[in-house]
Amino acid sequence: MSYKIAIDGPASAGKSTIAKLLSKELGYVYIDTGAMYRALAVFLLENEIDINDEILIKKNIENVNIDIDIEYINGEQVVKLNGKNVNKKIRSSQVSDAASKISVFKCVRDKLLVLQRKLANEQNCVMDGRDIASNVIPDANLKIFLTASLDCRANRRYKEYIKKGFKTTLDETKKEIKERDNRDINRANNPLIKVSDAHLLDTTNMDIDEVLDKILEMSTGGFDNGN
Ligand code: C5P
Repeated sequence: MSYKIAIDGPASAGKSTIAKLLSKELGYVYIDTGAMYRALAVFLLENEIDINDEILIKKNIENVNIDIDIEYINGEQVVKLNGKNVNKKIRSSQVSDAASKISVFKCVRDKLLVLQRKLANEQNCVMDGRDIASNVIPDANLKIFLTASLDCRANRRYKEYIKKGFKTTLDETKKEIKERDNRDINRANNPLIKVSDAHLLDTTNMDIDEVLDKILEMSTGGFDNGN
């Protein structure tokens, strides 16, 4: 049986940064489920398939192959769309928006769920997303709900966009994050929720090392979050 750590939370809460560090520290595999939604969004955008048309999406994604290469290349997990590395394409705000919009559809979630559960059951892992503890691996050994204030998350994401050379403003970034959160929280299929046995971690006033230490403490059972 593999040891599984589930990290859920709103957009730009620092889930992937923490999950990467945590998996390195523990020698586990990091599985980024958001990257799978993003890769599928790239497919739809590149093939000019209407991202709001569920029926059309269902018809077109049946034979699409999304995979995660868990052997890191240059410290990065590789996301493959029909066998091709799409890491460079998945982080733009256009893809963020499309991934968020298509993730409300059951056909999209059902397709990716199969791969997510398979990967989680094959090895010790840290998996992050929105419905990991509530739906993908409810049997996870440790569940974390990672969050931070909207301003803090918008600031973090804005700095990332600027570093990557994307043209945007702080206000636009904040608006994008707010819209994505609303969609994740309010969708009918596997919305973003904190399950009752998840540890709540608000990282607004914490630095990365503090967050990592806290989760490591939890993973060895020495933390009482008072829930
Ligand atoms: O985590 P990330 O921002 O990369 O995810 C991209 C989008 O995919 C999110 O905005 C969210 O709507 C969706 N997602 C999801 N369920 C997951 C992971 C991501 O709905 N488990």
